[in-house]
Amino acid sequence: MAYISDDNAAGQKLKKSATQSEKTLLAPTAERLRAEASAEELQTIHMIDVLASEQNISLSFLQQLLALPKNNAVKYLHAKARKAVEQVYGDKIFLRGLVEITSFCRNNCNYCGIRRGNRTLERYRMTPETIMACCKDGYGYGMRTFVLQGGEDPWWIDDRLVDLVAAIRSRFPDCAITLSMGERPRESYQRLYDAGANRYLLRHETADESHYHYLHPNEMSFQNRMQCLQWLKEIGYQVGCGFMVGSPGQTAETLLKDLQFIRTFRPQMVGIGPFVATQHTPFADSPNGSVETTLRLLSVIRLLHPHVLLPSTTALGSLHPLGRELGILAGANVLMPNLSPVENRGLYNIYDNKICIGDSIDHCYDCLSVRMESTGRRIVVERGDFLG
Ligand code: SAH
Repeated sequence: MAYISDDNAAGQKLKKSATQSEKTLLAPTAERLRAEASAEELQTIHMIDVLASEQNISLSFLQQLLALPKNNAVKYLHAKARKAVEQVYGDKIFLRGLVEITSFCRNNCNYCGIRRGNRTLERYRMTPETIMACCKDGYGYGMRTFVLQGGEDPWWIDDRLVDLVAAIRSRFPDCAITLSMGERPRESYQRLYDAGANRYLLRHETADESHYHYLHPNEMSFQNRMQCLQWLKEIGYQVGCGFMVGSPGQTAETLLKDLQFIRTFRPQMVGIGPFVATQHTPFADSPNGSVETTLRLLSVIRLLHPHVLLPSTTALGSLHPLGRELGILAGANVLMPNLSPVENRGLYNIYDNKICIGDSIDHCYDCLSVRMESTGRRIVVERGDFLG
């Protein structure tokens, strides 16, 4: 289906440091929006209230929400999502320090810039010492969660990764360790958990099997992806699933399956961001995902699963200058600044035009703090565990 086109104009109005009255204008309350709504908008607002109270959504209402012009009902959807997250987590925004530990990957996902078939990419693998130094930097900036992410790099056998996790665990006992290292055997996940890892991010990418096969080569298996998520949950990890918005082949039907999967799997975290067409991949010429659709889906996910930890992703910030602020205003409550050394950042090129690749963590931290002021929320020094 054709999604609504991006409308950057509203976001441009968001200033870096808004005054209180500007903040109220940018983030009007649900009550005010209801008072100002037309009769038609009120009908949609009623349906949004039903969605929130039943924590469920139908295909026809999903289609309707995604096709609406940016009217009072859409603003109400975001306001209601903000209220929902504030009821659980208050005005807090949690930071996750991202360390992109390797760009080697044995997989060949059709969307991803670090797929093994991309021979143009210079690959790197950080040493454990560099990774520890990144965590130390992040700790100094108040980060109490480190996310180690990478391609599926065969060099990172269990023994090496277990040693790394154990070293971070003993050096930073008050921090959460999140892994995002792709599909591994169950025993591997168990050993890493026993060594001190607490959380695992593994986007399911799509909950529709045939769409999964459109996005991935035949050697990859939908069943295994889903099986890995189950194992992680059974072992006791806080688990994050997620998907790209506007990935090639995505439809309202596949999105509904994603939302139903989130409703039933009840992950502690959900990562969504727009698909970004990336050179040297089979989808290089596909259109990018829509920022506006991503914002609506963030709000819908917040209402379907109010306790979820929901990042306003770098991909959102890469497609819109104020994407991360808008994500927070749509119901997200997590930011993932990059702790990787500047010399590696440009090489972890999962998608093109990624922001902040030339910026060190001190710059990123200051920039994010100023940006978040305009949302009326505050960055806190906490692990930010799932509540509920
Ligand atoms: N190997 C790890 C980490 C993958 S990178 C794993 O399999 O989980 C993290 C996420 O980036 C992916 O799950 C995917 O959803 C997203 N991603 C990859 N290519 C992208 C692109 N071109 N546009 C937007 N997001 C992308």
